[in-house]
Amino acid sequence: MAFSLSSRPALLSDLRARHFDILVIGGGITGCGIALDAALRGMKVALVEKADFASGTSSRSTKLIHGGLRYLKQFELKLVHDVGSERAVVYRNARHVVIPEKMLLPIIKNGSLGRGSTSMALRVYDFLAGVKKEELRKMLSREETLREEPLLNTDKVIAGGLYYEYRTDDSRLVIELAKSAVSNGAICLNYVAVTGPLYDEQKLICGAKVTDQLTGQSFDIKATKVVNAAGPFVDLVRKSDESLYGKRLQLTKGVHIVFPYDKLPLHHAAYFDVKDGRMIFAIPRNGVTYVGTTDTVYNQNIDSPHPTKEDVQYLIDAVNAMFPTVGLKISDVVSSWAGLRPLIYEDGKSPSELSRKDEVIISPSGLISIAGGKLTGYRLMAEKIAELVSKELLAKVRFKNTSTKEYQLSGGEFASDEELKAFAKKITTDSYYEWLPADIRERWVYRYGRNTETILRNAEELKATYADAEQLALAAEITYSYYNEMVTSELDFVIRRTGMIYFDKARLDKQLEFISSYFSHVLSRTPEQKEKAWKEFSTAVAEVTDFK
Ligand SMILES: Cc1cc2nc3c(=O)[nH]c(=O)nc-3n(C[C@H](O)[C@H](O)[C@H](O)COP(=O)(O)OP(=O)(O)OC[C@H]3O[C@@H](n4cnc5c(N)ncnc54)[C@H](O)[C@@H]3O)c2cc1C
Repeated sequence: MAFSLSSRPALLSDLRARHFDILVIGGGITGCGIALDAALRGMKVALVEKADFASGTSSRSTKLIHGGLRYLKQFELKLVHDVGSERAVVYRNARHVVIPEKMLLPIIKNGSLGRGSTSMALRVYDFLAGVKKEELRKMLSREETLREEPLLNTDKVIAGGLYYEYRTDDSRLVIELAKSAVSNGAICLNYVAVTGPLYDEQKLICGAKVTDQLTGQSFDIKATKVVNAAGPFVDLVRKSDESLYGKRLQLTKGVHIVFPYDKLPLHHAAYFDVKDGRMIFAIPRNGVTYVGTTDTVYNQNIDSPHPTKEDVQYLIDAVNAMFPTVGLKISDVVSSWAGLRPLIYEDGKSPSELSRKDEVIISPSGLISIAGGKLTGYRLMAEKIAELVSKELLAKVRFKNTSTKEYQLSGGEFASDEELKAFAKKITTDSYYEWLPADIRERWVYRYGRNTETILRNAEELKATYADAEQLALAAEITYSYYNEMVTSELDFVIRRTGMIYFDKARLDKQLEFISSYFSHVLSRTPEQKEKAWKEFSTAVAEVTDFK
């Protein structure tokens, strides 16, 4: 069945009628990773997400597939090794959305890093993460560092280091995972919220009560095992299972802000000191540079973390101190996002000191909760849960002993980096498609990989209807996300399917009305529905620069 809103009634009735081996609560990177692993083992999988896929923390990260250099400072060697070596696996399996990124580490007078200790730390990092020869770290003199990045503060810089990380699009990674899980038989549905557990006569969990957020209808989903992958909401699900004791979450908020590239024209992504002893990233990407992150304890509404003026000023001050000639102001910010880290609470530790390790908690009812962890380590977390479930069910059914290590996600079917580059070149230079802007075609390749070909076919079909090339491209892309990516609204599209709201804000502002009217057309909205959708959409887009 198509992964499309048009299949929703049939998918909902399947969710009601069938008995699943595993029900996953939460459609972030953790939940979708588990759904894929379990589906590949031959399990009958259902996944429900209360809002859109990746609408929680998994669209609000720094968007790096990284080994976590800073965890070396906390001597979390196993974590650095696990997620560091996992980078290469995530890269191989989703090359179109995981791009190698050279990272500059400036060493400054009285900073948190010394020249010798940085050289040693980067060497250990390369070793633990099993880094490829051509991506090994390189130490730089003061002059070399300033040549690499002339905007750095010349009064402060004494040396530098260059090392490799990988940049990703977190929510695209989640969507590709969901699509892959669905193509292997899982049912993954957004806008279906779990409202409470279901138990059998022995008080063992055997499913969940859910409510379809688009129609308000409630029903039960029956499953042998239930996995709670609700990210920042994990403890709320545990509470409904009356098993919220022992380990608990500590939520911390992380904010990112976005500038037009010409306001912060860095040559490289940089990871640099802030005066309070923390470190933050500044990452150039597609015509913008984004900066983050903050790390503060968060006890407010989990559904809508928002950057405050104070958060934004903290990041701006940090950038202006390290790159003094740029003189950034709040009014230069064109977009922003805030996410919540679902960390495990430890007595007496500050937010930055809390471990990023994942934790599995099994309640007396059998509810399996997984929390903590990193985007980067999602596959290993998924494997751990799928193995656990598989072992517990093995007495009843035999599942395949398969691994996702070599499994290429939807769109990422490239044997090598060269093959991806050749594909990108073919798509962007093909004169047959010269009626579509080349930069948009290139963005599609790094958003949809091989699936770009389907969008190009959509564009051909729509060509006669839209004279404006940008609008034609948008119509083709929305059509793809409607029929293949379970998009339900403009916001799903501009935030989680494309990231336009962060990385292509000028184009979004220009095409805001077109996007909304095209959605109204695709979804056959009434005039009242159309007006309501427009209000919600335009308000939400304006909020990304509204700091209180
Ligand atoms: C600021 C910041 C920067 C980060 N940067 C990086 C980075 O660069 N690299 C990296 O590797 N990691 C990074 N991380 C960590 C990474 O983003 C998270 O570990 C990861 O996204 C967590 O994913 P998740 O699926 O567990 O949670 P989420 O993405 O939050 O998913 C949980 C989902 O469950 C849903 N849900 C909750 N309750 C219910 C319910 N009752 N019914 C149905 N659905 C429900 C939610 O709506 C949500 O979508 C960062 C985190 C933050 C906050």
